[in-house]
Amino acid sequence: MALSGIQIYKLLPQTNCKDCEFPTCLAFAMKLAAKQVELSLCPHVSEEAEAQLSEASAPPVRPFALKSNGYEVKAGNEVVLFRHEKTFYSHPGLFLRVYDSQSADDIQAKVKPADAYKVDYVGINLEMSGFVVQAAGGDFAAAVKAVREVSHRPLILIGEPDALKAGLAVLDGSEKVMLCHATAENWEIMAALAKEADAALSIAADNLDEMVELSTKVAEAGVKDIVLSPKQRGFRGTLLANTVARRMALKSSFRPLGFPIINFPGDAGDAATEVILAGQAIGKYAGFIVMDHFTPESAYPLLVLRENLYTDPQKPIQVQPGVYEINNPGPDTPVLVTTNFSITYFSVANEVESAGVPAWLLVTEAEGMSVLTAWAAGKFDAEVIAKDVKRFNVADKVSTKKIVLPGHTAVLSGELEEELPDWDVKVGPREAVDLPAYMKQAV
Ligand code: SF4
Repeated sequence: MALSGIQIYKLLPQTNCKDCEFPTCLAFAMKLAAKQVELSLCPHVSEEAEAQLSEASAPPVRPFALKSNGYEVKAGNEVVLFRHEKTFYSHPGLFLRVYDSQSADDIQAKVKPADAYKVDYVGINLEMSGFVVQAAGGDFAAAVKAVREVSHRPLILIGEPDALKAGLAVLDGSEKVMLCHATAENWEIMAALAKEADAALSIAADNLDEMVELSTKVAEAGVKDIVLSPKQRGFRGTLLANTVARRMALKSSFRPLGFPIINFPGDAGDAATEVILAGQAIGKYAGFIVMDHFTPESAYPLLVLRENLYTDPQKPIQVQPGVYEINNPGPDTPVLVTTNFSITYFSVANEVESAGVPAWLLVTEAEGMSVLTAWAAGKFDAEVIAKDVKRFNVADKVSTKKIVLPGHTAVLSGELEEELPDWDVKVGPREAVDLPAYMKQAV
């Protein structure tokens, strides 16, 4: 049963030592009650209290990751139903499915373009997460092998226990896969197989009552990384099953449903319905999403949707501060200045790059704020700019020292001249779109 903040506080040492980086034990207890921190942050909890608190402090949706060859697809660890309440943590994995009834050539022809797909989206790589091999009367081990020959991404294996055993035998044992599905009929053998392979195990049930029964049995058999696979399909069925399961896990701390969820938009058959179902699954609580079709034009909107939902709204997307080269700048090329908010950086960089104008672009540390916001917050001023000019050795790259401020911060030019007395400080246009013309004429 969930404990209140005060109940948790009574079990903490109450020394306010701040080792957990909270000012008081009470503040930490409140966060723990809201499941926004882990108990392990307090190193001073007694064993007795830890035992009592472990249930209250366990994440409501069990976190784990599928892993292979340096790739990782994390799932679970969510604490809110709506992103505006805090944030969503584990990006749902998009997996492309092949069948063992396909030839190795056909499997590889499907896997290769999805494996190679990569798009730079404001500094973030958008990629497919992994692949699913499903038994369909063919040679399961050969199908797994065919996928592994052309992709190192994590795998989900679907089939009867014997097929899964054969598929696992192809892998080197170091990766963490998901096995599908334990049912009311086969759960004992599937649980034993998952334990032996240290794999995650999905459980499939017709309704949530049966799901609860099955997840309890599988957990008691010693499987920790359980995945819920509701058999309900279609827009209404999936939405209902996912929402009720997640709501029960988060609002009622109901452990039997406190696991990541797998959905199968690919079962829809046609590619257009599949994409819409996948969009719904991204928005409503799927941790793993199985698709049957891959095209760049269908993957892109799904991955962008996922990125937008699974980005912490309190942390703007940022690029690394530093000096970026655009169109092979030389010693006479001016230095443009901007902040490390990704969208600001890409607006400036794309305008200058596409105009074919060379530039050094100094990106300052501004906690991911845009130019005007950072200036208003005191994160983008002459001192900060001068500090980063020195920190990134900008003077070593140029002989003609011209530095261009964003037009909105013209007010900083006087102070910057004082901070950088040997530089020619200029004021650029207010909008990035006007930079190419400005640079051709004024610099
Ligand atoms: S580390 Fe533990 S004892 Fe110290 S303030 Fe935090 S909760 Fe209290």
